[in-house]
Amino acid sequence: MLKVNAQKCVGCGICMENCPVDAITLHNGKAWIDEHQCIGCENCLRVCPRGAVERREKDERQEIRMRLLYLRQRVNSLASRLDALEQIGKDEDNDNL
Ligand code: SF4
Ligand code: SF4
Repeated sequence: MLKVNAQKCVGCGICMENCPVDAITLHNGKAWIDEHQCIGCENCLRVCPRGAVERREKDERQEIRMRLLYLRQRVNSLASRLDALEQIGKDEDNDNL
């Protein structure tokens, strides 16, 4: 899990812009991560120019849960794309009849 070090955060919002699930909000000019929404992708950790996003003490079960949530989201996204491609294929077949 990740947390924001309020001493380092300058409230630039870059982490928010790069969070795929809108898990970060600003409170009194400091970023805050909603652990219930966070999927653990670590985008915020990579993009923060101040190094203000830090890992909490390691909790392996929590890490695994976050990874699974992230993978589930990726699978759902890919399934949606496949559905869309399948529909395009059907439409083209119908056009060729
Ligand atoms: S990118 Fe870093 S400094 Fe900017 S708001 Fe997020 S945590 Fe704070
Ligand atoms: S780890 Fe990913 S999902 Fe979690 S707050 Fe950072 S950018 Fe958002």
